[in-house]
Amino acid sequence: MIMEIIVATTNKHKLAEISKILTGVRCQGLGVRVNEDGETFEANALKKARAAAKKSGQLAMADDSGLVVFALGGKPGVRSARFTRPATRENLCHKILRLMKNKKDRRAKFVCAIALVSPAGQEKVVKGSCAGKIIFEMRGDGGFGYDSIFAPKNSGKTFAQMNPTAKNLISHRRAALEKIKKII
Ligand code: IMP
Repeated sequence: MIMEIIVATTNKHKLAEISKILTGVRCQGLGVRVNEDGETFEANALKKARAAAKKSGQLAMADDSGLVVFALGGKPGVRSARFTRPATRENLCHKILRLMKNKKDRRAKFVCAIALVSPAGQEKVVKGSCAGKIIFEMRGDGGFGYDSIFAPKNSGKTFAQMNPTAKNLISHRRAALEKIKKII
């Protein structure tokens, strides 16, 4: 029998990316309304996965991700999606570039937490990350969010300059999904 997992997202691209990595698993998207006010990526992912498991009565999975910049004390972190308003890629990237203007330490990482919750209440959370640095200007127009200012380690390109397949091979989401694959 093919395993089925409810994925707490309405984002078709995210669902497609997850389905592609979790081979042999049928992934079905489900929108849930939760207040993503947790202090950690893990807490927010768990909140969403619990809501999806309750709503569907099935095994559910949810993720929460964001950018962590060392010189900014970990910001924007769990507040990545709403670090500025309106949260366009230009506004988000320009805010980071402004805050990083005189910073020598350019280290940053993308982080992704994924939670799995069963209807019986069993819970597992894993975390994946992708290390890199914040460059000095926006480069490339692929991807979304902070992709144009983030260059992963050992790469001369930003995430926004890489093709989606190349990004997905080394992304924080991929790293977390590989751990999920070992659990299910
Ligand atoms: P969510 O976990 O999908 O809600 O993502 C939270 C926010 O973190 C997004 O709105 C983006 O601003 C940022 N983010 C997460 N993953 C990425 C990525 O791969 N590239 C660029 N920005 C990202």
